[in-house]
Amino acid sequence: MRKQIAAANWKMNLTLQQAETLIDELVKIPHDVNENQLAIFGVPFPYLTAIQTKLAGKKNVFVAAQNCYNKKSGAYTGEVSAEMLKSIGIGYVILGHSERREYFNESNSMLAEKVNICLETGLVPIFCCGEPLTIREAGTQNSFVEAQLKESLFHLTAEQLTGFIIAYEPIWAIGTGKTATSEQAQEIQSYIRSVFAGQYGNDVADSISILYGGSVKAANAKEIFGKPDVDGGLVGGASLVASEFAAIINSLK
Ligand code: PEP
Repeated sequence: MRKQIAAANWKMNLTLQQAETLIDELVKIPHDVNENQLAIFGVPFPYLTAIQTKLAGKKNVFVAAQNCYNKKSGAYTGEVSAEMLKSIGIGYVILGHSERREYFNESNSMLAEKVNICLETGLVPIFCCGEPLTIREAGTQNSFVEAQLKESLFHLTAEQLTGFIIAYEPIWAIGTGKTATSEQAQEIQSYIRSVFAGQYGNDVADSISILYGGSVKAANAKEIFGKPDVDGGLVGGASLVASEFAAIINSLK
């Protein structure tokens, strides 16, 4: 059975003290992460170890990096490699967030390299895809997202894609307060699953957790996560509020 996942993306927010307070508040609020669920905290690089230490011993709870570089090592000042993350015990990496695609020119082919390095290193990518508003208005979101997936992931084997994590995030819904309806999320996420089924078969497609991202909050999480092809969420703004994120975890199927 594929995992149901609540993934926080703190982006470039919070001081270390604020981050630790957020975790302290969150652990006090009853929230249950069962065997078929994961809660993952995508935190800024400098806080990875501190937050990991704070969450140590919590079952089914993990810390993720928000990015890594597409080269193994070398003269790339300021960059962080997959191997460095692995060496400090990190297991997950958010890749291809729309902000990285837009502000740091991350292309589908560069993301394919990042995915390869993560998998070789033993890190699990949380691979983001999603269309801008112009594409949604033109009604071509399915083929747009399909191209993102094909160009970055379709060189992988069925084994590598089994249990993979995708985050579908329509760019027009990220940080805008404008959420896709649960029907819109279900429609495209079922299409995404069918694209994997067409290439790799139903077993692989059914094993992939497809998260929805875009203004998920406590008030809408249950409705969105209730759809059959929505396996949880990647959450920005609401993950910075302990009560919101706890409620989002409690909304997982
Ligand atoms: C995100 O950053 O991935 C995101 C979905 O942000 P928000 O929840 O704030 O829309």
